[in-house]
Amino acid sequence: MKSMKLTTKILIGLIAGIVVGLLLGGNPGVADSYIKPFGTLFLRMIKLIIVPLVLSSLVVGAASMGDVKKLGRIGGKTIAYYLITTAIAVIIGLILGNLIVPGAGLSIPVDATVQAQAAPKVVDTLLNIIPDNPLSSLVQGNMLQIIAFALFLGIGITLVGEKGKPFLSFFDSMAEVMYKITAVVMSYAPIGVFALITPVVAANGPTVLLPLAKVIAAVYIGCILHAAIMYSSMVKAFAKMNPITFFKGALPASTVAFSTCSSSGTLPVTLKCAQENLGVSESVSSFVLPLGATINMDGTALYQGVCALFVAQVYGLELSLAQQLTIVLTATLASIGTAGVPGAGFIMLTMVLQAVGLPLEGSVLIAGIDRVLDMARTSINVTGDISAAVVIAATENELSTPQDAKQTISA
Ligand code: ASP
Repeated sequence: MKSMKLTTKILIGLIAGIVVGLLLGGNPGVADSYIKPFGTLFLRMIKLIIVPLVLSSLVVGAASMGDVKKLGRIGGKTIAYYLITTAIAVIIGLILGNLIVPGAGLSIPVDATVQAQAAPKVVDTLLNIIPDNPLSSLVQGNMLQIIAFALFLGIGITLVGEKGKPFLSFFDSMAEVMYKITAVVMSYAPIGVFALITPVVAANGPTVLLPLAKVIAAVYIGCILHAAIMYSSMVKAFAKMNPITFFKGALPASTVAFSTCSSSGTLPVTLKCAQENLGVSESVSSFVLPLGATINMDGTALYQGVCALFVAQVYGLELSLAQQLTIVLTATLASIGTAGVPGAGFIMLTMVLQAVGLPLEGSVLIAGIDRVLDMARTSINVTGDISAAVVIAATENELSTPQDAKQTISA
């Protein structure tokens, strides 16, 4: 009940932020100097939890599986779910890009240049997941490396058995403390969300957004469709959960993601929603969600699909079916490599453009509106993570009925 109230407050904060942002449209400086700091404060408070939370929750998640076989099974399911939903997201993005034709009739002069993002070698990327110094990964906040380290610790604890228990208790206690801090920080979320959104809306008033309205529409419609089709059917099919219950339970995380544009930053809230609102067990959520915040980005992949088509259209280039399939592949991979921080998907977009030989300068057109697109895609990224947690928990019999689910009207 309490969490529902907070959800309402966060939503009010979001809407108030949009309204005040529009009112301050002509005067973004005011929003920047007087309102933004309150948002930055919120962002810093949730960021401070991330590294200790990912480490401790993932160690607990991996170790609490009990045996390495189960860990492998759940790991396999999780990765499969993430890859399939992401690929479908790109396809939705491409279909919308073909239907809406966001680049049609656009002749914005492109004069700036974008530096090519040299695609890193696959072998190096893979090797780089294993840290050679895990403490430095923690200090630098390298999420993939922290995940790898935590998984190793979890496996080690499992294999050691009795003697590993005190070590596990330590991480368990650390995770609990981090969850508690999250709850404290979340009570500030309505103000934080308000203060994060106001300056963005003030700076991106209608004049900035209108010329590229079709791109924005394509990305937003795509994100909504992906959630409405994919996540609804997945939670319904695997967990027999009413989609409305699902989206309601995920809402605080979706809104915080929308305003912070960071999946990693939202992770504490994501965990809270999955466990408290949707009844996902701690062991599944603390394994699936930190992983998802780092590698599962449906919204980002969808956005890259739309933007690649947009750039092709602006330059009057036709993309063949083979090229569009290349986009599905590269966007899926690029979204895995995208960090869960604001704007990361835009940097990876250049990689996708490069893969199909599109002019990188085209992404300059997107740069101006990227923040607005980032809000939608991050929100979907996080909602997708939660859908995975629900689905996987259901298949492992680790989904309990939360209080909220009682309202479910069986459809
Ligand atoms: N901001 C996104 C996220 O954190 C990543 C992106 O830029 O696409 O999920």
